[in-house]
Amino acid sequence: MKVATKEIQRVEAPPLIDRIGNTPLMPLKSPNPQVQILGKAEWFNPGGSVKDRAAKFIFESAIASGQLTRDKILLDATSGNTGIAYAMIGAALGYRVALVIPANVSDERKKIVRAYGAELILSDPLEGSDGAILVARDMARDAQKYFYADQYNNPANVDAHYRTTAPEIWAATRGTITHFVCGVGTSGTLMGAGKRLRELNREIKLIEVQPADELQIIEGLKHMESAIVPGIYRAELADKQIAIETEAAYREAHRVAREEGLFVGLSAGAAIAAARKIAQEIDAGIVVAILPDGGDRYLSTALWA
Ligand code: PMP
Repeated sequence: MKVATKEIQRVEAPPLIDRIGNTPLMPLKSPNPQVQILGKAEWFNPGGSVKDRAAKFIFESAIASGQLTRDKILLDATSGNTGIAYAMIGAALGYRVALVIPANVSDERKKIVRAYGAELILSDPLEGSDGAILVARDMARDAQKYFYADQYNNPANVDAHYRTTAPEIWAATRGTITHFVCGVGTSGTLMGAGKRLRELNREIKLIEVQPADELQIIEGLKHMESAIVPGIYRAELADKQIAIETEAAYREAHRVAREEGLFVGLSAGAAIAAARKIAQEIDAGIVVAILPDGGDRYLSTALWA
């Protein structure tokens, strides 16, 4: 039955991209009773990871500056989560998206990206995320066709965390956070949230988490010494770096699933391992670790084999 004349009273319902951010801080078990460990559960974002924040800011700034127009395709290299975020937001806002992803990225990531209708270009699995960057740079020379989002050098990536992640942590801890623990891939999360937290209280210690060496593969994280260093990365920002072995990241991801009911990804496992190290080193404090994504992104990988 059609009601032709009367306007309906619309229900107030914020659109998808307004649901990005405001993720919860989850309490985690601590090896030191005087230290509270909190994990920022980024899988609560609609695209399932921390990268929703960066992708949203990258889209919005490119549209606002006129660099991304309806006739262009947003192009970037990604190890998966940023790709999913771009593909989701592109679908929601009506922009085309093309992604260069290393061929060995987990199957579910590739399938999710395709489900959102994005175009996938697979790069050499042996060359990892750096190989994907080189392919994307090459494609981006067609500037008529593509807007190259370049998350590794795009200040909007940093700005997203400066303007959302850090203020959320500050508010949720009522300014009591003493240590911020964060892995680095593009480094957007650490550079943006770390900078803002420092401004709010310069006593806050920033702890950077990296894979122990180039052979320790932790999806989403970069071993800076052996990788193409992102333009947005500043090695001097963090007070301390903690190197995590893949094995330790696995162990923590398994442990928090079984002991704490939190199904997290591998880089979250690495962040939790680092947060526990810090908790054992300090007398007292409030340690906040970024947990970038959930365990279901890795169902087809060795993490849950
Ligand atoms: N963990 C995972 C699973 C990721 O996908 C990413 C993004 N590459 C990160 C950590 C690191 O985040 P950032 O790019 O902000 O350094």
